[in-house]
Amino acid sequence: MEKQIVCLAGDGIGPEVMAAGKRVLHMIERLYQHKFHLQDELFGGAAIDAYGNPLPARTLAACLASDAVLLAAVGGPRWDTAPERPEKGLLALRKALGVYANVRPVTVDEATLHLSPLKEECAKNVDFVVVRELTGGIYFSYPKHRTNEQATDTLTYSRREVERIVEYAFRLAATRRKKVTSIDKANVLESSKLWREVTEEVALRYQGIALEHLLVDAAAMEMIKNPGRFDVIVTENLFGDILSDEASVLSGSLGMLPSASHAEQGPSLYEPIHGSAPDLEADRANPIAMMRSVAMMLQQSFGLSAEANAIEQAIQNVLKTGKATSDLGGKETTSSFTNYVLQELEAQV
Ligand code: ATP
Ligand code: MG
Repeated sequence: MEKQIVCLAGDGIGPEVMAAGKRVLHMIERLYQHKFHLQDELFGGAAIDAYGNPLPARTLAACLASDAVLLAAVGGPRWDTAPERPEKGLLALRKALGVYANVRPVTVDEATLHLSPLKEECAKNVDFVVVRELTGGIYFSYPKHRTNEQATDTLTYSRREVERIVEYAFRLAATRRKKVTSIDKANVLESSKLWREVTEEVALRYQGIALEHLLVDAAAMEMIKNPGRFDVIVTENLFGDILSDEASVLSGSLGMLPSASHAEQGPSLYEPIHGSAPDLEADRANPIAMMRSVAMMLQQSFGLSAEANAIEQAIQNVLKTGKATSDLGGKETTSSFTNYVLQELEAQV
């Protein structure tokens, strides 16, 4: 298989974890005889420094023409006072790609159970995916306005917007434990009443998949008290923003979890859930979230399941030997941990 992948290393630990992700891609290329054309482009703070723009035209054009985009992290204190913000590049890129479905699998690894804020017997059962609507809702609806005395935001969802994200969640649940939990605030919000109605309609088309509705306040509690009940969670943009951050701390380190963002057509965007972690010393970042983002890309954009599973298995095997980066209490560096994962991949295939 031959694919064009745009690599946006970005800022902070971005370039280090991107280097690890690329090493994994090169190893997969060699072991399975694929050809991945990896094209580096400037993005975020790095692009502000070079061009005064977090998403330069050539970066955007490369992303739009690619088969998939791999992004590491953007931002950092250096650009806090800059006229342009690195994060604006991320919003503009998501918009240009039309990625409406943000997908975050959440698991707690056996080797890191003790790092989870959950009790071990609870942490063991965590295995769910948060599907967040990414392009609609209160962040993007109009009117918005503000005076000294009053401010207004608007929360709008169309039937079509709800339908496509809920459809995505049901298709995903069909490949997993066949349960969808739709999270809303239908006791108060009109947009949630429509959300619930459309979700019920979609469910009729997916026999064999259980649907439950949960109010967002109850869902926030359940994620801590009883996270094992969740398989696929689907929710609107603002609730998803908050719940996916809550979910991200369950694994014990932000360095563990990947994400994908999908459009109706065109390239998907894959990135670790963590940010640029500017406080970390050189070569200390945990590359697992990036490696898992690579695995998600191989699986979801290219259908390469065996390759994706091999990466996950290699990560698990290395963790089982007790090797880990410092965020997990270990002594490995980004590069030494990556070396072990590559060795393990080679040994497996
Ligand atoms: P951002 O503001 O850039 O979206 P954030 O505020 O959510 O990000 P991060 O910068 O991702 O947070 O990380 C918060 C802290 O978690 C970091 O300062 C770092 O100590 C730790 N951390 C995050 N990612 C990693 C990683 N890959 N490896 C090790 N530690 C990490
Ligand atoms: Mg940060």
